[in-house]
Amino acid sequence: MALKLSENSLKVLEKRYLKKDENGKVVETPQEMFTRVAKAIAAADRLYRKTEDDIAALEHKFFTMMENLEFMPNSPTLMNAGRDLSQLSACFVLPIEDSMDSIFDSIKFTALIHKSGGGTGFSFSRLRARSSTVRSTGGIASGPVSFMKVFDAATQAVKQGGTRRGANMGILRVDHPDIMDFIVCKENDKEINNFNISVAVTEDFMRKVTKDEEYDLIDPNTHKAVHRLKAKEVFELMVKMAHKNGEPGIIFIDRINNNNPTPLLGKIESTNPCGEQPLLPFESCNLGSINLYALLKKADGKFEFDWDRLKEIIHLSVHFLDNVIDVNKYPLSQIDKMTKQTRKIGLGIMGWSSALAKMMIPYDSDEAIALAEKVMSFIQAEARKESLDLARARGTFPAYKGSIFEASNLRLRNATLTTIAPTGTISIIAGPCSSGIEPMFALCYQRANVLDNARMIEVEPAFKDVMEEKGLYTRKLMEKIAEKGSVQEMKEVPEDIRRAFVTSHDITPEWHIKMQAVFQKFTDNAVSKTINFHEDASIDDVRKAYMLAYEMGCKGLTIYRDKSRSEQVLSVGTKD
Ligand code: ADP
Repeated sequence: MALKLSENSLKVLEKRYLKKDENGKVVETPQEMFTRVAKAIAAADRLYRKTEDDIAALEHKFFTMMENLEFMPNSPTLMNAGRDLSQLSACFVLPIEDSMDSIFDSIKFTALIHKSGGGTGFSFSRLRARSSTVRSTGGIASGPVSFMKVFDAATQAVKQGGTRRGANMGILRVDHPDIMDFIVCKENDKEINNFNISVAVTEDFMRKVTKDEEYDLIDPNTHKAVHRLKAKEVFELMVKMAHKNGEPGIIFIDRINNNNPTPLLGKIESTNPCGEQPLLPFESCNLGSINLYALLKKADGKFEFDWDRLKEIIHLSVHFLDNVIDVNKYPLSQIDKMTKQTRKIGLGIMGWSSALAKMMIPYDSDEAIALAEKVMSFIQAEARKESLDLARARGTFPAYKGSIFEASNLRLRNATLTTIAPTGTISIIAGPCSSGIEPMFALCYQRANVLDNARMIEVEPAFKDVMEEKGLYTRKLMEKIAEKGSVQEMKEVPEDIRRAFVTSHDITPEWHIKMQAVFQKFTDNAVSKTINFHEDASIDDVRKAYMLAYEMGCKGLTIYRDKSRSEQVLSVGTKD
């Protein structure tokens, strides 16, 4: 297939991904970019004594799946593979111990990672509480929230020169003495803007919320209880703030640790910025996503997944991502060491809702949930098969002994295989296709044409195809849809098309959560998903969503109520 990229895709690639000369002139075509990436990543097979012919064949396969837009690695791999920088991972977690040395080392490490296009997550839970004493100076500690502001300012300063603006996740355990300060620290949405924040809640806490009991706040240094709070009051404040402007999110930290594949290496305390990748301190992870929209085929006049090609792509993608670990140049030796102990990778999907619509399956239907289960269990199972094969040839991940897989003799090359990323930018590059597992945001958009300032209408491609097929595609109708945002009330659009083309705001929070939960069931790491609410949703609605996500086995939850923030950090499609 000849490479056919959309106008938006080309724009994004030219801005940040393609090589430029010293005058800023683009000197690489998208095809050359894919060749550069395929070559650099296939080269890792040399470490495993593959022949030059094998490597050339593999390079061709890697190139083809990217050229077909069937698979995309995360942005840093596209930008940096085969170039001097060669930092290829999107996700990092750094430790912060309770000392000035550790805090400011971590800030320096963060700057280095942001410069190379990676995002960082931290737990601030080890820092002593605000107003506790500092022994060496007799002064008073300023606490986690004030240090978060220092990280935020450093991120702000670095973002001008880096490959993309930096992104952070800040986590605090619900039993930290400063938890109430933390929950409200982004109440004013002008502050700490380079962070997403989440409260790490424990099973004990959730039980006490249900029973309306008190729980202990623990001093991170002495590990002694210093105060008690009513679990319900803390939970209510979280719900109220999330309703107000979407922050903080919540992560179920005990659940995450129950799934920690390598408990002997330590506990998981944080995730990457968008929450989909829990990692140990100093671990990094590279992600890649399969574009399900590109894997449809027509049979008997209907669209369905091309399962044979999907299987091939899963195997190739796991091979690709395992190779990335070997050719990656890590920003720190500690990260190099830790990443190679577990060899975590995160294979996920994008184009899910575009594919559903093309198959005429409504996102908010039992049929869609059943298909999600079928697709993701298939991806997880095939990814594991490839990882087992790789382990036979290359060895298991070094921390395999003592891992949760040892008991069942599941000798894997990678401690985790699957992650559902937001795919904010790569879905534009591979697209247009919907991002991650999110529903379509809109069917038609109005855009100003930069050249002559005329209004342009952009139509979701699956929608355009279906409407054209039925002879219903007119500019006038598209303009009307762009104005309305949804086709649910439009009699001009046939009923079955209206059902298949539900957009984010047509879908109830319950269905959003059901979809997240079903994907989580077959995902080793976590799922990036925003649960969208109407502007007029109540605090009650948000509380119910949190409880539902907990009951359905999600690892965390991020909600967003329409128009509740003037600007959004890392909102889909707006990153640069
Ligand atoms: P992409 O589509 O560019 O590959 P995603 O939207 O899938 O990226 O995000 C995946 C992860 O990449 C995020 O969770 C985060 O760790 C990292 N990331 C995303 N955007 C940024 C950014 N602007 N700066 C730093 N890291 C980022």
